[in-house]
Amino acid sequence: MRVSVDDDVCAGHGVCTMLCPEIFVLDDAGFARAVVEEVAPELEAIAREASLRCPTQAIRVD
Ligand code: SF4
Repeated sequence: MRVSVDDDVCAGHGVCTMLCPEIFVLDDAGFARAVVEEVAPELEAIAREASLRCPTQAIRVD
């Protein structure tokens, strides 16, 4: 599974970073980015949950 954050859509709520800090961090401006592109199998479920719970639907999982 691959994961990415759309910079143009992220509003910086931080839901993703609270759910899964192993994948998502907030940058200095307060917006999220994924620190990994390829998600480890044991983190796939939480990555999907972060995508579903993102208020602006900025997280893409493939
Ligand atoms: S939950 Fe969505 S809007 Fe909030 S920081 Fe993460 S990607 Fe950005």
